[in-house]
Amino acid sequence: MDDLIKRAAQELAEAKHAAALTGAGISVESNIPPFRGKGGLWEKIDPMEYAHIDAFMRDPAKVWNVLIKGMKNIIAQAQPNDAHMGLARLEALGRLKTVITQNIDGLHQAAGSTDVIEFHGNFAWQRCMDCDARIETVKVDMSRVPPLCECGGIYRPECIFFGEIIPPQHLSRSQFVASQCDLMLVIGTSATVQPASYIPVISKESGARVIEINPERTPLTGSVSDYLIMGKAGEITRLIVEALERLL
Ligand code: NAD
Ligand code: ZN
Repeated sequence: MDDLIKRAAQELAEAKHAAALTGAGISVESNIPPFRGKGGLWEKIDPMEYAHIDAFMRDPAKVWNVLIKGMKNIIAQAQPNDAHMGLARLEALGRLKTVITQNIDGLHQAAGSTDVIEFHGNFAWQRCMDCDARIETVKVDMSRVPPLCECGGIYRPECIFFGEIIPPQHLSRSQFVASQCDLMLVIGTSATVQPASYIPVISKESGARVIEINPERTPLTGSVSDYLIMGKAGEITRLIVEALERLL
């Protein structure tokens, strides 16, 4: 593993346009459970029953009570970990340009990354489904569920549910970044949610190196990624940044 960390640091030092794709795994050390895998949310609830747009439209109160309320509490308490901090440090060092994240927790921005594409939207804001008024999630009055706007419309998070399209501007910019970068760090994603999982494929096909950080193998491992550094995002990213700083 030491060799791979040195190799990743060396490749980051040489890269001209490095980018990162992050998934739920990068926030596990910030105590936000992922969807899939051990300890994942899907062990407890059925995604199609709660995280699909049809489920929300059918019974918004149920989805607010079971899924959104819990996420609101978990995300409100979460702090960036060494992986989020490490990516922000790489940006400050001029070694990483853009973070494309599938996450909705806002932890990259909290760590100091300034160019973050929120592929699936964000959870920091709620939007009224009738009049489009926005309210910060922390300010939502939870005494009535689902929470309602002054106009009587129902609030929904600004992130997308399964069954909804990726915000077109995020999709096209992500595809552009993926095709232009010469190094793509893929951290904490199971690479099973389309179309985000296609981002590293675009990079690979455009000639970039692809480095994975994950405690488990993924469908990208051994085919799309050049190598996998097996381990936790926070620990591995910290070691890579330390090794890089010794090179600069
Ligand atoms: P996923 O839940 O499908 O997979 C999580 C991945 O993280 C797995 O490959 C797992 O091996 C890995 N992982 C677990 N612990 C890790 C650690 N400490 N360090 C590094 N990797 C670790 O996640 P996904 O691929 O992002 O797809 C799920 C979807 O769920 C995404 O679209 C995302 O929007 C959403 N989601 C977001 C959050 C969040 O905002 N924090 C949380 C849960 C789910
Ligand atoms: Zn309204």
